[in-house]
Amino acid sequence: MTSRTTDRTPRSRSRSSRRPGRLRRLRRLTTSVLLSAGLCLGTLTAAGSAQAVDGTVVTSTQSGGRTVSFTFDDGPDPTHTPRMLEVLRKHGVKATFCLWGDHVRQYPHLVRSIVADGHRLCNHTMSHQDLGGWSQQQIRQNLEQTNAVIRQAAPGAQITYFRAPYGSWGQSPQVAASLGMQPLGWRLAINDWEPPGTSELVRRIVQGVTPGAVVLMHDGGGDRSQTVSAVDQAIPQLKSQGYTFDQPAVR
Ligand SMILES: [Zn+2]
Repeated sequence: MTSRTTDRTPRSRSRSSRRPGRLRRLRRLTTSVLLSAGLCLGTLTAAGSAQAVDGTVVTSTQSGGRTVSFTFDDGPDPTHTPRMLEVLRKHGVKATFCLWGDHVRQYPHLVRSIVADGHRLCNHTMSHQDLGGWSQQQIRQNLEQTNAVIRQAAPGAQITYFRAPYGSWGQSPQVAASLGMQPLGWRLAINDWEPPGTSELVRRIVQGVTPGAVVLMHDGGGDRSQTVSAVDQAIPQLKSQGYTFDQPAVR
């Protein structure tokens, strides 16, 4: 009896401490893999889970109904952003671009191209930081710096939205709202950070879209040629299903 009791105690203790450790390691590994690729962690965190006092994370289009909003993260990218802009222009679709401040500094002319084409801008932090554990003051500093470099690139540009990297919102929705930006989540992520082939991406977009959905895709942070081609093919298919293109809601 005694030995069983003493056996059980360490076992249950080690079991309970092992699990979080494994989770932490897994999370660290996942984060570092994605960080090194410079990508959004779209599916592991529910985008709409953070409800803020003054900043609801929107995941739907402005008009609702049979509309859809395309959003592109982690650019601008010197190769794939111009191609994406060309595709969107060809189909007459306006989208939203969530910009990484460091990339804006490198390629300011691409921000001007995005604005000139009538797309909307979204702040995506300076260096794709995970804001989960940051203070409001730290977040504010980062978001203001990102807005400053965007406005330096495209003077007078409106920055309508903010999107937290990895969907790790922390206290950022309140801060973004206080800076006049709508926190922007998503309803559909096509997981294009591990390019599975263009036709698979087309399938994920066309079959995954629901009325009023905001869709998360990437034009930066890696080779996005499959995403560009998939968007080119998916737009006509969605249009033929009666979808029109809208911007994400601003409340
Ligand atoms: Zn991102």
